[in-house]
Amino acid sequence: MKLPERLMNSLGSKDRLRLLIVVPLILASIVAVGLYLAISNYLLNDATDKIRNVLLSQRGLHIYIQKIMHPTFYRARDNGKVTLDFYAPEIFSSSFIVRNMHELYNGERKKEGLPIIYYKMASHNPRNPVNQADEQEAALIRLFNEHRNIREFKQVQTINGHKYLFYARPFLETNTACLRCHGKREDAPIGLLALYPGDGGFNEQAGVFRAIESLRVPINTEMTTAIIATSSVSVGLLALLALFFFNTRLRTLVRAKTTDLSLEIEERKARELELENKNAELERFTYTVSHDLKSPLITIKGFAGSVMKDVHNGRFDRIDRDLQRITEAADKMGALLNDLLELSRIGRMINQPTACSMHDIVREAMRILEEPLTTHNVTVTIQPDLPDVTVDKMRMVEVMQNLLENAIKYRTTEAAPVVEIGMQETSRGPAFFVRDNGIGIEQSYLETIFGLFNKLDTRSDGTGIGLALVRRIIEFHGGRIWAESQGPGMGSSFYFTLPLPAAAATNDKHP
Ligand code: ADP
Repeated sequence: MKLPERLMNSLGSKDRLRLLIVVPLILASIVAVGLYLAISNYLLNDATDKIRNVLLSQRGLHIYIQKIMHPTFYRARDNGKVTLDFYAPEIFSSSFIVRNMHELYNGERKKEGLPIIYYKMASHNPRNPVNQADEQEAALIRLFNEHRNIREFKQVQTINGHKYLFYARPFLETNTACLRCHGKREDAPIGLLALYPGDGGFNEQAGVFRAIESLRVPINTEMTTAIIATSSVSVGLLALLALFFFNTRLRTLVRAKTTDLSLEIEERKARELELENKNAELERFTYTVSHDLKSPLITIKGFAGSVMKDVHNGRFDRIDRDLQRITEAADKMGALLNDLLELSRIGRMINQPTACSMHDIVREAMRILEEPLTTHNVTVTIQPDLPDVTVDKMRMVEVMQNLLENAIKYRTTEAAPVVEIGMQETSRGPAFFVRDNGIGIEQSYLETIFGLFNKLDTRSDGTGIGLALVRRIIEFHGGRIWAESQGPGMGSSFYFTLPLPAAAATNDKHP
């Protein structure tokens, strides 16, 4: 059985239901958080790449203006093609040009229905106040100057309920060429001075980042995508996990049901077999009963006929003897019918087993058999420490009586009859025994003697029912009975097991 099924089986129904809800929820939540982080991170990196691309193309423009346009203008001015006081930010200031180009770019984006991208060349000391760094940008300018290894900064921001990715990186480091316009005021072109009367943009130093490029792009769509993707996968996973646990539970239930059904089928088969055996036994029984009842009837009929004939012929000398035979046959039939009646009762009448002393049972049987025991001078020895048994006492007395009766009946003429009653360890566990020094039983009959009407000596006065009755009683108690004998003339031992109280079963007083 797999681990989830074992776990399920070890829980009560309420805990199981809780587990079915809680475990998928926890697992799905963990996956959802991980998934959300991974997806949003991927989308943010993607957005950052797009920003970098915008910045790089703007950086290209800055460099073009500084490295190509400016030298061309300075040459033209040096050659007198442009007057010394000429200055126009529209064609000279890279930040002016890039800012205006970005505004136009946003205008084009709008036309395409795309959200605009905030862009600023933010500075502590701008020439144009629109470029004045806000608090965060000013802090970043300081950060990039103090920590040269930090090359960029990004942050997800929420403004008026909308998500943005804020991105900043230091602008080109100020060099000596930059200082022409951004150094001391008196060194700047006259046209520039005329346009910007204040100190803004002047007095910068080489080797310093005087500005940062600061961008803010809306990322609502990306975040919504991350949420939708996460929710769909999580709901799917939740459903899968719930299905998995449900399936596990279902499998456990089906397995339990299948086991129950198999047990039921096995039980039914066993009962069918038992019924078949009983039917077969009943058939044998009916056959034997009718056969055994017939023989005294035949005797009675035969002798009654000869009595009638003798009366008719006036011969009275044999009548007494014949009538005696008729009486004997009738007695035999009566005994047979009594035993049969007794046997049929066994199936129905069995009292509730109670704990009884085996000694009491033996003594009760001996009291009933006092007359034959005394007549035949039988010595009975009883093991002193016989344990108590849980039995229907009356029936047990019958068992003991039958076994003792047989021991008396099948005694030898050679030795005085001795019967031993005790208990000993056998291959089938601790068993009681009734042992005699009688005529013994041939090996091949040790089992058949327990069958109905099975008598080894047909002339003996028994009915052949006693041992069948004994076996039935023992089996009703859940025990077993068997006979052992070394052969004719060697005596017989009848062993039987019975349910013992737990302590007695392990009692080592009976080796
Ligand atoms: P019954 O004694 O009425 O004939 P049982 O069923 O008691 O019937 O015994 C069946 C047969 O088993 C007996 O006829 C006898 O041949 C044999 N038998 C039973 N007990 C003993 C015994 N103690 N010693 C020898 N043979 C026995």
